[in-house]
Amino acid sequence: MKRILVTGGAGFIGSHLCKKLVEEGHYVICLDNFLTGNIENVKNLLNESNFEIIEHDIENEIDIKVDEIYNLACPASPPHYQFNPVKTVRTSVVGIANMLELAKSNNAKILQASTSEVYGDPLEHPQKETYWGNVNPIGIRSCYDEGKRCAETLMMDYHRQFGTNIKIVRIFNTYGPNMHPNDGRVVSNFIVQALKNTDITIYGKGDQTRSFCYVSDLVDGLIRMMNTSGFTGPVNLGNPSERTIRSLAELVIKKINSNSKIIYKPLPSDDPVKRKPDITLAKTELNWQPFVGIDEGVDLTISYFKTKLNIL
Ligand code: NAD
Ligand code: UDP
Repeated sequence: MKRILVTGGAGFIGSHLCKKLVEEGHYVICLDNFLTGNIENVKNLLNESNFEIIEHDIENEIDIKVDEIYNLACPASPPHYQFNPVKTVRTSVVGIANMLELAKSNNAKILQASTSEVYGDPLEHPQKETYWGNVNPIGIRSCYDEGKRCAETLMMDYHRQFGTNIKIVRIFNTYGPNMHPNDGRVVSNFIVQALKNTDITIYGKGDQTRSFCYVSDLVDGLIRMMNTSGFTGPVNLGNPSERTIRSLAELVIKKINSNSKIIYKPLPSDDPVKRKPDITLAKTELNWQPFVGIDEGVDLTISYFKTKLNIL
């Protein structure tokens, strides 16, 4: 039984990861400051003897015994990470520095939840890990993009300077149950709007693309990455099935048979025009690929929100 720390464990992805690790029989410490996460997400684990929650902010040092650290703590939705951008930078940079010190003192493995945002508004398509990106360093997304890029730098420097056992995963747009109804990201926004028959808000013309990965596939990839040896990454994890935002809106409206109308709002600045992961490296190194397609994944997410919002 390993002692595994999951920072951001009460958030969307973290809660699914905690559940899987508890089911595998590990002792799981879920650490969260509850900025965007919610205890409700891990309610089903609270009675398990191999699960505990610590309320803590990774901006502050912590000293506990651990074998592995998954660092997921960071708001991930653009409206959330832009709400307090200084805090987002501090969480990404000071936070990972504290977690790396913890890994170093415990001789523990540490996995960093990095992001496709390190590629910015990409000029290479699809994006391979070798691409250095096209990131605005002073825009409204920079607190997140540059924070995550600096976190990758710190990970690599701890590895080269101190031999720390690191794993960097670049996560592409992931969705599923346990997203907050007011999360602000596109899949949850569209589903909640369609279920409430309110306007579906497309930013810009809706021609921009994303490639959506269901959360169970992503969690499987995270655990596979942690369990490899001799491979630091960075490695892309995401579903290469690319679609426009408009086609996602149409899919959600059709599935819910909603009366919602599509309305168009201004495109926020620096919103990437297209995004799709090249997952060759994950296939080769982790023997990983996603299995849940958009139809099944959106159906599962709609069921979750129907229950959450009390819609029959
Ligand atoms: P989320 O907002 O649901 O979860 C983030 C969690 O971190 C929340 O529980 C929040 O309370 C906690 N947190 C934030 N700041 C903290 C701090 N300073 N100290 C302790 N806890 C803190 O988002 P998510 O989608 O579950 O994302 C999890 C991680 O995966 C993030 O690091 C995010 O950058 C990364 N990621 C997610 C996606 C995606 O599509 N979901 C894509 C790329 C990267
Ligand atoms: N988006 C949209 N309507 C919404 C929320 C988002 O059209 O209600 C767009 C957003 O502008 C972006 C895409 O959907 O082009 C994905 O947005 P999200 O915030 O989910 O993730 P990210 O931009 O970080 O990939």
